[in-house]
This record gives sequence, C-alpha cells and structure tokens, in this order.
Amino acid sequence: MDYDVDNIFSKIINGEIPSNKVYEDDDILAFRDVNPQAPVHILIIPKKAKICRLGDCDDNDIEILGKMNVAAAKIAKLERLESFRIVVNSGAGAGQTVFHIHMHLLGGRELGEAII
Ligand code: 5GP
Repeated sequence: MDYDVDNIFSKIINGEIPSNKVYEDDDILAFRDVNPQAPVHILIIPKKAKICRLGDCDDNDIEILGKMNVAAAKIAKLERLESFRIVVNSGAGAGQTVFHIHMHLLGGRELGEAII
C-alpha cells in the first residue's frame, strides 16, 4: 500500500494537528487516543518510518517494530499499568482507519474480552 503523507498521524507528527502527547523519543511518538476505549488508551507510532500497515512490514522494519514494543513497555510503566493490552489493526477489514502504522496501548480497566 502506498503511504499517504496527508494522513492524520503524519499531521500530528509535524504539529499540524495537536495531540495529547505522553511519550516521545527520536523514533517514536505516543499520544492519547481521541476516542478512548479504556481509561488509558494511547497510540504509539513511528515518527520517521512511512509504513501504512503492519502487513506491509518486512525485515527492514524489525528495528522500528522493536522500538514500538519497547516504547509500549516504557509507557505502561509511566502510566503505572501492571497489566495492559496491545492491539494492532492491519488493514481496513481489521478496523484500521488511519494508515500510518500504530499500536493501541489499552489499560486501566479489566480487559477480559477483545475490545477493538
Ligand atoms: P485504527 O482504527 O486505525 O486502528 O485506529 C485509529 C485510532 O486513531 C482510533 O482509535 C481513533 O480514535 C484515533 N484517532 C483518529 N483521529 C485522531 C486524532 O486526530 N487524534 C487522536 N489523538 N486520535 C485519533
């Protein structure tokens, strides 16, 4: 899938659209979801990598995918979450609506069932 530079998360990265930022480093930005499905619902995205979907990834993306997961662990600690869930929707048929790869970090309530 071709990357659309005008997607919402791209605009959040470049500051065109404001976000409630919770974590940032050289490669990763994380901010609160505008429509939270749990008390803690944070989106974790790469800042430079132009990847639409997890399903588009290959061996070249191993490093950034690892960094996204490590960022999730750091953010969970910052948010004092003992338990949390990571969700990645890949493709419209799985519910993906923004085509800049992202992880949902969900926590702060009982997560017994799949919720997204
Ligand atoms: P997807 O359905 O693609 O896996 O997840 C996209 C997520 O982005 C949704 O949970 C949606 O609520 C969130 N979202 C969409 N637009 C914005 C926005 O402008 N700001 C923030 N913070 N979240 C957004």
